[in-house]
Amino acid sequence: MNRHDPIRHPPSAGSQALAPIQDYLVEIHERVSKIAGGAPADYIPELGKVDPNLFGIAIATVDGQIYSVGDALVPFTIQSVSKPFMYGYALQHHGRAHVLKHVGVEPTGEAFNSIVLDDAANRPFNPMVNAGAIAVAEMMKGETQDQRIANMIELFSSLAGRKLEIDDAVFESERATGHRNRAIAYMMLNTAMIEQDPEQVLDLYFRQCAMNVTACDLAVMAATLANDGTNPITDHKIFDTQYVRDVLTVMNSCGMYDYAGEWAYEVGMPAKSGVSGCIIAAIPGQIGICVYAPPIDRQGNSVRGISVCRDISREFQLHAFYNHTNVRSVLRRDYRADVVRSNRLRTLEERTLLAEEGRKIAVLEAQGALFFGSTEQLLRKLNALAQNSKYVIVDFKRVHHADSAASKLIVRTVRAMAGGDTDLVFASIDNDRPLDGLIRALAETKEGHGLRQFRDTDAALEWCEDRLLAGVGSTAGTKFALHQINLFDGLTAGERKLVEGIVRPLVFEKGDVIMRAGDPAKLFFVLARGTVSVEIKLHGEGGRYKRVASIGPGLTFGEMALLDGGTRSADVIANERVVCYGLGVEELHELAKEHPNVMITILGNLTREFSERLRHANEEISVLE
Ligand code: GLN
Repeated sequence: MNRHDPIRHPPSAGSQALAPIQDYLVEIHERVSKIAGGAPADYIPELGKVDPNLFGIAIATVDGQIYSVGDALVPFTIQSVSKPFMYGYALQHHGRAHVLKHVGVEPTGEAFNSIVLDDAANRPFNPMVNAGAIAVAEMMKGETQDQRIANMIELFSSLAGRKLEIDDAVFESERATGHRNRAIAYMMLNTAMIEQDPEQVLDLYFRQCAMNVTACDLAVMAATLANDGTNPITDHKIFDTQYVRDVLTVMNSCGMYDYAGEWAYEVGMPAKSGVSGCIIAAIPGQIGICVYAPPIDRQGNSVRGISVCRDISREFQLHAFYNHTNVRSVLRRDYRADVVRSNRLRTLEERTLLAEEGRKIAVLEAQGALFFGSTEQLLRKLNALAQNSKYVIVDFKRVHHADSAASKLIVRTVRAMAGGDTDLVFASIDNDRPLDGLIRALAETKEGHGLRQFRDTDAALEWCEDRLLAGVGSTAGTKFALHQINLFDGLTAGERKLVEGIVRPLVFEKGDVIMRAGDPAKLFFVLARGTVSVEIKLHGEGGRYKRVASIGPGLTFGEMALLDGGTRSADVIANERVVCYGLGVEELHELAKEHPNVMITILGNLTREFSERLRHANEEISVLE
């Protein structure tokens, strides 16, 4: 999308699913319309001409949905609501240290147009009062005044997601009468807080205040702050996250001038007001709000704007200090491999061993966002599981965010557990961008390199099971002779000879497709050496395959052919060089004509195997649900 495409229109009233918020806005608009009091600012003569009954509310979500009511598409000048964005720009282009030299971060408790500088540093107190904003206006980049103006317009246009313009009448009106701001600028020239010609700096400042916007525009701009500096409509990254935090901090302490303390107490949202009668508020991670209603109070804040924000904050529990987090929800579930095994099909012997020893493998599934509190919970649980486990697998599949605190704590844990009694194994940590920081942090530590990581929990479980089985002397990995295979248990020596007679030894190389879904099923296989994967194609996932089972020596695959004679239901691929015995279904039926016991015995063994798998699947479901 073009950066300056017009913003989307507010949802139509008929949009049922959006009704709860839309209905609320209609109600609050009607209720607050009855509130009188205040008067439009007229110290800038042009502002005094506004219709005092104009009243619009807009809310933009961090993914670009806009809800609005009333005069939300009527243009007005942005005035002081420009200040936090210019401050963000200054931080972005000059860095914190430079900006802090010219403007502080202390609330003044004084009016927006107060003429005071802090005694010690001669600096304006903060960037939300006029003095600070004028010092910040000087930081707009550009060789000439025209370039600076163009850059300023570009900044606001990219924030709104559409091309904005200056209201010349308001600009001229303030330029002609803004002597108090002139006094402030000259005083700052005197203390060397600004260095350029004050008239030039004021020219830019008055223009920035005269940018024409609508309540919908300002809601999008506020939502850009709520969205870590990325415009939710255009996806254009405008401010770094670290600077967004700085901007919101000064909005929170200074955005409402000498009403800031009460605002923080009652409403509790970082906000900024302008004398044209607009207020914006940003709730990080959720929404941006704008209310526009020209009558303002003594402190310069929109009377109806305050009322609406107070109500929205209460109605939707949006006060900054309301606690929405539940750190315990990071623990999705945990289980052990005696009950939930990997998709590797195991021989009877292996199954018995795993039923006894599988408790030594624990799986811990995490979910949601990893930050300090939730990571502490996760690691405490990990530690508890490690007390009586040989392996602990942590599954990150459902973790959608890990901040730097989480990365640091996890790296410390990996370090502490390296070389200990319990092996730490991570699964699904490569689930796209959200875990980038953690992946990098792990790559930077020596122990991180040694850490076992698997693409999913199934692969991790299989690896741990193999290690466990190897440790207790299982025969896995060795080559199986026909007589060792459970499928033929119960055949007499003579019958086994007959079967051996029709068996074809087959060898496949790594990656070979041994059978493909849909192919006619003519053979079934007994694996003697190596492992194979059974994969199915997922519906609607761009042709992705999922491994549903892996099969090792001593086990059969493709045996369905014996039962229904239909077509293959999955692909089977060799994981490595594989040796197996192929048995022709027709030949076996032929053989069974004269020796029916061969078929009865084999089918009996298959049925036992299937019922065993079903029983185990049921047990797993009872743990995983
Ligand atoms: N342009 C206005 C001024 O400097 C902005 C003040 C405001 O909106 N609070 O006076």
